Amino acid sequence: MDQEYQVGIVGAGFAGLVAALRLRKAGRDSFVIFERASEVGGTWRDNRYPGCACDIPSPLYSFSTEPNPEWSQLYSGQPEIFEYLKGVVSKNSLKGHIRYNTEIVDARFAKEEGYWVVKDQKGLATNVRVLLLAVGPLNRPHIPRFAGLDDYKGTWFHSSEWKTHYDLTGKRVAVIGTGASAIQIVPAIAPSVGQLTVFQRTPAWITSRFDRPMGPKSKALFRRFPLMQRMQREFFYWLNELFGLGFVGNKSINRLMTWAALRKLSKEVKDPDTRRRLTPSYTIGCKRILKSDDYYQTFNLPHVSLVTEEITCFTDGGILTRDGQEHVLDAVIFGTGFVAADIEMETRITGLTDQNLIDLWRRTGAEAYLGTTVAGYPNLAFVLGPNTGLGHNSVVHMMESQMNYIMQYIEYLEASGPGSYLDIRPQAQQAYNQEIQERLKGTVWSSGCKSWYLNTKGKNTTLYPGLTVRFRKETRRFNPEVYELVKQEEPAVSDR
Ligand code: NAP
Repeated sequence: MDQEYQVGIVGAGFAGLVAALRLRKAGRDSFVIFERASEVGGTWRDNRYPGCACDIPSPLYSFSTEPNPEWSQLYSGQPEIFEYLKGVVSKNSLKGHIRYNTEIVDARFAKEEGYWVVKDQKGLATNVRVLLLAVGPLNRPHIPRFAGLDDYKGTWFHSSEWKTHYDLTGKRVAVIGTGASAIQIVPAIAPSVGQLTVFQRTPAWITSRFDRPMGPKSKALFRRFPLMQRMQREFFYWLNELFGLGFVGNKSINRLMTWAALRKLSKEVKDPDTRRRLTPSYTIGCKRILKSDDYYQTFNLPHVSLVTEEITCFTDGGILTRDGQEHVLDAVIFGTGFVAADIEMETRITGLTDQNLIDLWRRTGAEAYLGTTVAGYPNLAFVLGPNTGLGHNSVVHMMESQMNYIMQYIEYLEASGPGSYLDIRPQAQQAYNQEIQERLKGTVWSSGCKSWYLNTKGKNTTLYPGLTVRFRKETRRFNPEVYELVKQEEPAVSDR
């Protein structure tokens, strides 16, 4: 069977849709999107916990080609972002390209033909010339297997698997973890629960979001003058880039952020002991800086308590901490994050050899050239691959930068004749990754804390160690000289 599509995209979250929009804009129609769920949206479909919102302003955390003058808040909530993504799919007639309920379990590069054979869970195979993996890093919940969890009689669930039918009203509830998800859940559920206990292992650095509604006037303005919204987007983008300097070595900006965060903490938390326990002892930015306007104040409520004693185990009725205290609980919410740095995809990906890419990465740590292409796996690109995550700005910008590069990669491949393939040279990939790891050394992320940015061996496989302007420059032009181009031999005359 011949190839059926020029491009196959795995995943219909933000990354997959960035890719699809770019292909569409270039007038390309030969692409298919494989989506394992029955709806688009990725993380914005799965995370439905109370208070779920983006911590990057919506005018910036959106596709550059799809501005939305209707955002109701500066930092929109999950339902609105999910609706936005579905709206973009309809508006751009992408629905017909998406195969829902389709999980790719195997992708094999057929090198004689120069295309990928991808198989779904039902065994159906599709051939695509270029495979784009846009699966995102934050979809495998990390659930610590605490001793006694199986015997606990109450209800428990992970933040990304919210039990929407379970009513928390009046219940004794615990939240484990104080990361980006937990600090949104805690203030959202506090008013309705009977008692709320927050189990903190490491305090987070938290700055203000300065969220505000986007009133009818600003919406009308953005509708009438799209340039105004473009300017607003640019404003937030450059502001974030400025603060990004504090992550990559600028001590003054780092000190300013530390000062602002400590000031906020002292203003918003009344009890000195709680304040002390909420104060981080590591460099700001080492773990993701969180943004909230209402988390700290929650600890001023009489029925909310902060527990910093280590969790020993679960009991039938709740949680036992190291000080011997049993916390009796009706429900426990795991705000314990995701397995992000150790790529644990279920898909088997084999390129020029039988080596499964995921097994390889388990040994070496995930790495790619420009977070995009991987040696030995030709005609394949990641959108939001290794070391393309950010601690300071919108990842949509990174995805769009990668697509600038990938579109040229595809054009070059097509111009090289049918069946040809493009493989990044191992030396180029190695040199790029050595440089990435070298640059990471001078940043806050290497200042000694433990974070989900690092894999189990301590290697940072998730973050790009610089400003997004630099990555945009690096991905501006496709550089064929670092690739090996393999052209298929013309079939002999007698074969024709
Ligand atoms: P997270 O930031 O990794 O936080 C996990 C929390 O669980 C941490 O406080 C961690 O403590 C704690 N934890 C983990 N294992 C534990 C254990 N065995 N015992 C006690 N505590 C434990 O996870 P997340 O909050 O789900 O956020 C993950 C990422 O999702 C974010 O950084 C962000 O990129 C994304 N996100 C974004 C938004 C947004 O607004 N854009 C919202 C939610 C999530 P330690 O710090 O001690 O490890």
